[in-house]
Amino acid sequence: MKRARYWRTWTIANLVLASALMFYITEADLPAVVVFLVPNGLLLVGFALHWNAARQFTGCKLCRARIWTPVGILIVTGLPALAMNNYGLTYTVTNVMLSVLAFGTAREYYGMKANHLSSRHGLTLAYVLIGISFLVRVFQGIAEWQNMGIGLPDDVILTFHLLIALIYVSASGAFSLAIAFERAVAEQREAAHRDPLTGVYNRREFELRLKALLSNEARKAFAVLQFDLDHFKQVNDRFGHVAGDEALQYCADLIKFHLREDDCLARLGGEEFAAILPEISQDEAVRIAEAIRQSVAEARLDFAPAEFRLTLSAGVYHGTGGDLGHKGLMRRVDQGLYQSKNSGRNRVCLADAA
Ligand code: GH3
Ligand code: MG
Ligand code: MG
Repeated sequence: MKRARYWRTWTIANLVLASALMFYITEADLPAVVVFLVPNGLLLVGFALHWNAARQFTGCKLCRARIWTPVGILIVTGLPALAMNNYGLTYTVTNVMLSVLAFGTAREYYGMKANHLSSRHGLTLAYVLIGISFLVRVFQGIAEWQNMGIGLPDDVILTFHLLIALIYVSASGAFSLAIAFERAVAEQREAAHRDPLTGVYNRREFELRLKALLSNEARKAFAVLQFDLDHFKQVNDRFGHVAGDEALQYCADLIKFHLREDDCLARLGGEEFAAILPEISQDEAVRIAEAIRQSVAEARLDFAPAEFRLTLSAGVYHGTGGDLGHKGLMRRVDQGLYQSKNSGRNRVCLADAA
């Protein structure tokens, strides 16, 4: 997944955290200044990178200030503390920053509402847990301000902290993989029922929705509109295929603008669009189709001279569908559309109801 920058940040974050742990393991043999600054600094950079990875996952850019500010604060508070032999200050300040970074990351995952990725709850929980554990250590730092030695206080709080860290590492790793997988599936599912050129639904999704509507015995009267752009081949011949594509996108946007939120608009193929308008009166359906026809006919296209006008013809079905299957129903709409084409184009015709 070369495009996914967050994986690189995420991997570097884990390597940095692993190296911080290596320093903690060997701290007894290291000079005071190294024990004091290096593992704490690495821990801060690792958690800051995790926050950044979460931001990158949602499309935000890497924020360097979030990485270097905690390290700067560690140095500013750590060096005087080292000179004064007051280790409680650095311990407390470092844990304050670590809990801010962990809660910040949790908030990032909690706020990811797009695509309904349920793994974000697991990630939120993992970062909240480790954030709480850091917070407990803040209170420990304040309480034991003066008695704090240079190494990590080896007590029951450390044991609990390491247990929580173990849960955090396993949960955040598993859920990070899960959330990326979940999003890839959601994106592919979305792509499978959209038309890539115009972004409206494709024929497959349209037929699925129409079948679902027709299988509902208690359905109310609905409308199906079908649009076909007039003499569209000439648009391509005169202005080129790129201009033709632009015109298709523009028309899709215009049609969508006139539909209601729950209506389903699809590109059936080529220069043909269709829409399902559930629970609607005949007058309202015809009024919407007419408004679409009019606004396309009045539209000015960037690539064409001012006097050029693109038009469309429409067929409208209104009714409850009766015994018609989805194919029978589309045949009806088509009859309306052909009536529009045959009676001079740039118009809306109502098809016979079932
Ligand atoms: P009519 O008024 O009878 O509908 O005439 P028409 O020219 O619109 O109909 P026809 O079916 O003969 O031509 C449709 C044209 O639509 C042919 C093709 O060049 C064009 N077309 C289909 N799909 C695309 C597309 O994705 N992009 C572009 N630029 N043109 C497309
Ligand atoms: Mg056509
Ligand atoms: Mg056409």
